Amino acid sequence: MNIALVTGGSRGIGRATSLLLARQGYRVVVNYRQRVDDAEALVFQIEKEGGRAFSVQADIADEQQVLAMFARIDQAHGHLAALVNNAGVLFTQSRVTGLTAERINRVLTTNVTGTLLCCREAVKRMALPHGKGGAIVNVSSAAARLGAPNEYVDYAASKAAMDAITQGLSLEVAAQGIRVNGVRPGFIYTEMHADGGEPHRVDRLAASIPMQRGGQPEEVAEIIGWLLSDSASYVTGSLIDAAGGR
Ligand code: NAP
Repeated sequence: MNIALVTGGSRGIGRATSLLLARQGYRVVVNYRQRVDDAEALVFQIEKEGGRAFSVQADIADEQQVLAMFARIDQAHGHLAALVNNAGVLFTQSRVTGLTAERINRVLTTNVTGTLLCCREAVKRMALPHGKGGAIVNVSSAAARLGAPNEYVDYAASKAAMDAITQGLSLEVAAQGIRVNGVRPGFIYTEMHADGGEPHRVDRLAASIPMQRGGQPEEVAEIIGWLLSDSASYVTGSLIDAAGGR
C-alpha cells in the first residue's frame, strides 16, 4: 500500500489534504505537533470513510523527532510514496524592526530545516534503484513572491527558501524517480491567521484579491493531490500558485 506523509496533517490545508489522499487510496500518516485530539479525530474520520491512516506526533523542527517519525513509518505496512511538507508556522504580525533572533530562528527552523529534514528522510526511502520512486509537494506561500511587508517578512523568507528547495531538490533527484513540486497558496481560511494575531484576516483582505474571496483548504488540497498523482507524471520543479489571482 502506498503511504503518504502529510506534515501538519491534522488541521487546515494539511487536514484537507489528508482526507483527499485517503480517498485516493493512500494510507495517510497524519503528523502533528501538539493537538493530539485533532489528529485522532481526523484518523477516526478517515477510517469511518473506509480509508487507512495513523497519526504521529513529531515536531519537524527537531531532528530526533523527525527520525523517530520516519522509523515509525518504516514499521508500517506499505512504502512511502508521497510526502507533503505542509507544516509551517508564523507569528504575530510585525515590521522587521520588531523581529527577534529567537522568532526568526523558530520560523526558519520549522519551515526550512523541518522541510529539508523530511525531504532527506523521504528521499533516502524513495530513491531508485533501492526505493520505488515517489513524489514530494512543498506547501510554500504567495508570500514567497510578495514578501509579506509589515506582517511577516521572516515567514516570507522561509517560504522563498522552500521554493529554492523545490527547485534544487527536484533537479537533484529527478533521475532517481522522485518528483518535487510546490504549491503557493494565497489567503486560505484556516486557524493559522489567529497565530498571526488576526483570526479574520482573510475576510478583511478578501476585497483586495482579484477573485474577491479567500480560498478554502480543499482548493489547495486538490492541487497537492494532482501533483502527487500519475496525472502529473512529467511535472517536476514546478510551483503552482493558488491565490485567486493575487
Ligand atoms: P494551520 O491551520 O495553522 O495548521 C498547522 C498544522 O501544522 C497543524 O496540524 C499543526 O499541528 C502543524 N504544525 C505546526 N508546527 C509544526 C511542527 N513544528 N511540527 C509538526 N507539525 C507542526 O496551518 P495552515 O493554514 O493549514 O497552513 C498549512 C501550510 O500552508 C503552512 O505551511 C502555511 O505556511 C501554508 N500557507 C497557508 C496559508 C493560509 O492562508 N492559511 C497561505 C499560504 C501558505 P498542531 O495542530 O498539533 O498544532
